[in-house]
Amino acid sequence: MALFSRLVAKIRGSAPGDWDELERSLIEADLGRKNAADLIALAKSTRSESAESALQSTLSSWLWSGERSNLLDKSGVVLIVGVNGTGKTTSVAKLGNYLVENRKKVLLAACDTFRAAAVDQLRTWGERIGIPVVTGGQDPASVAFDAAKKFTEESYDLLLVDTAGRLHTKSDLMDELGKIRRVVEKTAPITEVLLVLDATTGQNGLAQAQVFLEAVQVTGIILTKMDGSAKGGIALAIERELGIPIRFTAFGESVADFATFNPTEYISSLLS
Ligand code: GDP
Repeated sequence: MALFSRLVAKIRGSAPGDWDELERSLIEADLGRKNAADLIALAKSTRSESAESALQSTLSSWLWSGERSNLLDKSGVVLIVGVNGTGKTTSVAKLGNYLVENRKKVLLAACDTFRAAAVDQLRTWGERIGIPVVTGGQDPASVAFDAAKKFTEESYDLLLVDTAGRLHTKSDLMDELGKIRRVVEKTAPITEVLLVLDATTGQNGLAQAQVFLEAVQVTGIILTKMDGSAKGGIALAIERELGIPIRFTAFGESVADFATFNPTEYISSLLS
């Protein structure tokens, strides 16, 4: 991904085109207007011999600076939230598979009862990857309650809860996720809330994310469809603007197309 190599070349005086054109291409790479403007300002004031190191340290400073906790060291309930179509249900299966491959005892809960297909989809994934899936009637909170009970009684390590992903108003979203949270917490602790974002939706995805951030305490992001986005800058924009770590990325429709996010490798790939 040669997102920033042109910027380095421009600082060194060896790239064609003017600064405005370069700024536009950074915006097109889903970096966002402010980040693109900040980078151009930085580039203009950087000496050619320090071009690469100045960019590298600036980009790194925009990423999440706190500790990136490891789900493999945790136990409890993980709520997976996000708008329909982002790859939420598929990500629940992929994350479940990743945890099982790392010897965790995992249970899934199909609480996206508003989209009938989501329940069948998760059940099918569960059969395919060998993870039990709790399903139920129309009430997501009652499915979550049954799942939390089974989780505790049968000593699972982690319970992944697929939640409904309609585009809500903030208060609908708070009500619905709040209800799931309350019933789960009667029997089991909620360890994480992971928000699924689709990399191909770029800056629109960031706007959607804000609604969720205001409604629930999101602890991390699963960034999906990285295979469909050649625009690389979105991960940087997400971490700088939302102040939340990307924990996992998905890059295809198969269950194995899933990995933990590695910030060092990401920055190297942007600069290579
Ligand atoms: P949900 O509505 O958010 O639960 O989304 P789904 O999990 O049903 O996924 C929506 C569509 O996106 C499905 O066709 C998935 O196969 C596809 N999908 C999910 N994740 C990825 C990904 O990382 N890459 C690609 N190319 N497709 C994905």
